[in-house]
Amino acid sequence: MLEVKLFNSYTNRKEVFKPEDPNAVKIYSCGPTVYNFNHIGNFRSYIFTDVLRRSLKLLGYKLDQTMNITDIEDKIIAESIKQKVTVEEFTSKWIKIFFEDLETLKIEKLEHYPKATDSVPEMMDLIDKLKEQNLIYEKEGSVYYSIANFKQYGKLSKIDIDGMKSGTRYETDEYTKDDLRDFVLWKSPKLEGEKFWETKYGKGRPGWHLECSAMIRKIYSSGIDIHTGGIDLLFPHHENEIAQTCGAYPHEHFVNLWMHCEHLLVDNQKMSKSLGNYYTLRDLIAKGYDPKAIRYLLLSAHYRTKLNFSLKSIDESTKAISKIQNTLTRVLEGVNFDLTQKNENGYSEAYYKDFLDAIADDLNTSKAVGTIFEFIKIINSKLDSNALSKDDIADLLSYFIKINGLLGILDFEKSKDDSLDSEIQSLIDKRQAAKKTKDFALADLIRNDLSEKGIILEDSTTGVKWKRK
Ligand SMILES: [Zn+2]
Repeated sequence: MLEVKLFNSYTNRKEVFKPEDPNAVKIYSCGPTVYNFNHIGNFRSYIFTDVLRRSLKLLGYKLDQTMNITDIEDKIIAESIKQKVTVEEFTSKWIKIFFEDLETLKIEKLEHYPKATDSVPEMMDLIDKLKEQNLIYEKEGSVYYSIANFKQYGKLSKIDIDGMKSGTRYETDEYTKDDLRDFVLWKSPKLEGEKFWETKYGKGRPGWHLECSAMIRKIYSSGIDIHTGGIDLLFPHHENEIAQTCGAYPHEHFVNLWMHCEHLLVDNQKMSKSLGNYYTLRDLIAKGYDPKAIRYLLLSAHYRTKLNFSLKSIDESTKAISKIQNTLTRVLEGVNFDLTQKNENGYSEAYYKDFLDAIADDLNTSKAVGTIFEFIKIINSKLDSNALSKDDIADLLSYFIKINGLLGILDFEKSKDDSLDSEIQSLIDKRQAAKKTKDFALADLIRNDLSEKGIILEDSTTGVKWKRK
């Protein structure tokens, strides 16, 4: 197994990846709050999670991965009251849309997607443990975390916590705290008709930070290998997760490796609705952009660099994908292929090694796609001069299958020959005309003729469809 190095935001350096169990690598990623369409910046973070997953799989690991769904929160409550629907009715629509969008971007399904609303008992357990450690206080029906009593606070974000007292406001909730730095664990209801749980800490609902600590505990019962999220979650969200879990379980390890994905800029500016540079995935698809190009664009920039997104850059990605696809299509034409065939020691070995080395080096996807273009240049020149044997072609095919384990966008269907297609279509038309004039003998002859060409006809209500055997 290749040595894998990943950048740890906690120690600020690349570290050799050593999961507790290589056959069940425990990864937790902060997921969406489900109240509207996710924007393209959110998808950068989800694609990053997918790149991490697919890379580790290519490198030989098996995964046990989780992304939480925040399905209770201020905006969710306000919107569901406004629309006169229950929180569940409101969020189920957005959860469905979220998963549809993931599928559109070929983001692989994870093993677990826990919902905050299903994890309240685990949150209560966590508050109990924090109470035992003298880390909470109750005020006006809400429960708060007392940061002054957790000495390690600030280790992940390296912030000056003494400076925080007089510093800028960093929590936007409207609750009263003893100390500006403290954060809410359990919120008492504030609005008429607001959803709440009846608990030993009173009526209320979870604070956002509490959810993630509780869900990690719920899914894994102990610590995890990797925790991921967008860089904007590093502080205070992830710092608060550490305060909660390490505060509640001071003798257990929590997270081995913290990984954060950088911001996405649009035309070199922060994305915002007022600047008119705010895009959801669906906005872009409605404008005619191919989701494959959007996926490629988001994955081909290294996750620790700021990605400058523009409509022009999607066009460039479209071109880049078709370069790879065109070469693959030429390879597919060269052989009666078997997608399950593997040829580990062929012509592509050295190039695939370069590709793997790049992703094993802190998921360097920009370098990894670079190795693909280097190789397809050579493949194309070999194809041009008919210098490839059948074994070479089979080896190349296995190369494309492997790199598609990361890219997820290549098409392995054999391309259709247009001239042949028109010949088939004219035969089908002739057969239809024969059926109309009740010349069934001729219709059957044409069907047999097509069958010999490897074409199957299917009569349907919308006309005759055909496919290759
Ligand atoms: Zn989280």
